Amino acid sequence: MRRFEGRYPGTMRYASLASGSRGNCHALTDGERTLLIDAGISYLQIRTRLETLGWEVGSVKAVAFTHEHSDHIAALPVLLKRTDWCILATEETLQAICRIQGVTVPVNRWIPLRPGHATSWEGWRIVPFSTPHDAADPVGYRVEAGGMAAVIVTDLGHPTALVADHCRSLDLLALEANHDVQMLREGSYPPQLKARILSRVGHLSNESMAELLGRVRSSRLRAVVLAHLSEQNNEPELARFAAEEVLRDSGIPLYVASQREPLSVAATG
Ligand SMILES: [Zn+2]
Ligand SMILES: [Zn+2]
Repeated sequence: MRRFEGRYPGTMRYASLASGSRGNCHALTDGERTLLIDAGISYLQIRTRLETLGWEVGSVKAVAFTHEHSDHIAALPVLLKRTDWCILATEETLQAICRIQGVTVPVNRWIPLRPGHATSWEGWRIVPFSTPHDAADPVGYRVEAGGMAAVIVTDLGHPTALVADHCRSLDLLALEANHDVQMLREGSYPPQLKARILSRVGHLSNESMAELLGRVRSSRLRAVVLAHLSEQNNEPELARFAAEEVLRDSGIPLYVASQREPLSVAATG
């Protein structure tokens, strides 16, 4: 596969600003421009956490939304008022988000996406791809910039072949490790919620995460970030153990993104 060469090779960084069922926000930067993926924490928290990591808030140019669930879109109304950031989303997702939030995104701030189709943004290549999740038109993102390829994929009920195809030949993979099946089954969630999470359009278990990771692991990978962990139904150690079983002896650094603390990882070099 041809590697996409961006304008500033070798300087890409990834951050998880927050990750989990109470709010999600990822970020990718080449130093000049920053793309957020989802904005499920407050605008204030987005700013504060970027500053904590030493990232330039002024470099944020856009937010790409994965789907309309509240833990991914909370900041949108404030973002529309307080920033000039562009919104990347599929038409169905944009409509769902606007309906839920009671807002309108001006046409000149919307960059329409289609799952499976690459979009060029600020010299980066952004490919949304469909994920099995109970939302209008959910996607994960493959982003290629500065010679780096990263995938951010959470909120998926099971690891499809399509998702695995987009996760090949990567420098960085941020992947959902939502729950430990036994913890979820024995936990206090109502039966209907348990069934939803365990369904094929729910969330990815540690077990399924490890299966997918095993299928897409390669010598090019420089970082794996486990994301969207449930605070009720998972433990970072359990998710880490499941991934380490697959990555064993590979030397690939493994990180666990958390709800409370931001995390920044070099995606290249
Ligand atoms: Zn969701
Ligand atoms: Zn979510």
